[in-house]
Amino acid sequence: MEITHIEHIGIAVKSIEEQLPYYEGILGLKCYNIETVEDQKVKTAFFMVGQTKIELLEPTSDESTIAKFIEKRGEGIHHIAYATKNLGESLKEMESKGVRLIDQQPRGGAEGLNIAFLHPKSTGSVLTELCEHPE
Ligand code: ZN
Repeated sequence: MEITHIEHIGIAVKSIEEQLPYYEGILGLKCYNIETVEDQKVKTAFFMVGQTKIELLEPTSDESTIAKFIEKRGEGIHHIAYATKNLGESLKEMESKGVRLIDQQPRGGAEGLNIAFLHPKSTGSVLTELCEHPE
């Protein structure tokens, strides 16, 4: 697997709107996209920091995994996402190395990326996402 950079860091928040004064007003970042990912029941907001993004994740339903995360652990860093060259092959490689996969196959994520999650049991308790930009 060839990781090229950290694509984004996902941060669970109760309300994107309540966090904008911090990210925009204080850090001076610009929110360039807000997008709802229906099948994950989250609203996402993106800020560019160099070639890496900050992705705020707000649950749109109590059933959302983000809602459950916030309930258990509070708001804060939720996952780290690495950009990789060939996601399908990367997943096979991870599996052959004994890494537990949450997603067996790449699926569609926010911003048109193909994504897949690795299980925190295999990644030192850090929920880890691999993603690739489709060609
Ligand atoms: Zn993500």
